[in-house]
Amino acid sequence: MTQRKKLIAGNWKMNGSLSANQALLSGLVGQSQGLVADVAVCVPFPYLAQAQEVLKDSAVAWGAQTLSEREPGACTGEVAASMLQEFGCRYVIVGHSERRTLFGESSVVVAQKAEHARVSGLCPIICVGETLAERESGATLNVLKSQLEPLRAGLLTSADFVLAYEPVWAIGTGKTASPEQAQEVHAYLRNWLVERAAAISLEAQQRIAGVRILYGGSMKPANAQSLLAQPDIDGGLIGGASLVLEEFLAICRAA
Ligand code: PGA
Repeated sequence: MTQRKKLIAGNWKMNGSLSANQALLSGLVGQSQGLVADVAVCVPFPYLAQAQEVLKDSAVAWGAQTLSEREPGACTGEVAASMLQEFGCRYVIVGHSERRTLFGESSVVVAQKAEHARVSGLCPIICVGETLAERESGATLNVLKSQLEPLRAGLLTSADFVLAYEPVWAIGTGKTASPEQAQEVHAYLRNWLVERAAAISLEAQQRIAGVRILYGGSMKPANAQSLLAQPDIDGGLIGGASLVLEEFLAICRAA
């Protein structure tokens, strides 16, 4: 069986200030020695330089929360993959449900962003997840499938990406998927990846086993351990709790 190192990634969303970030980032550097899991924080664009400065000699990686699928040029307000690279980003979140609902990002655009990140040397954290209405109507797995379908063969072959299952009804609500609910979906996602990769090549199929699938949606110190104990849950994408040093560290320690 492929061993996957767990990844705990903070998603700060539109939060932070220079002074608050300084305390959080330097606290992380000071207290992250000895952690077994990979740790990362995805910060708002203006704070990338600060994250790079504070984290550069530490084991904590950093990244952004979205990127443009276009080449640099006439595209007011957008940020290119090459710019994220200049600030040392390892990760970039794509297709977060807030991007999908508030900014109308379709699964096709999300796949373009993921591919663009990948060819630029960044590791996309691709988010998928169903709404409460979709879950209650029994559509969960079909919704996830349609969100995954546009992912490109190049991306799948590279296996240099992370998938994040974030049920929309669990994000920022304090409601968490039970470990069994999450595991069921993660197993489905892993199976989808394996089948799709197998249709591309044997090499792709072998590599895809190393792709990490994170759970996100109200993961807290109190529920992290039971979620992270599931065989197909390879880490967490943490919103609210990533803004509180002690909570974030406790989740990292549970991994
Ligand atoms: P939450 O957010 O941990 O605050 O629920 C997770 C996310 O949106 O990535």
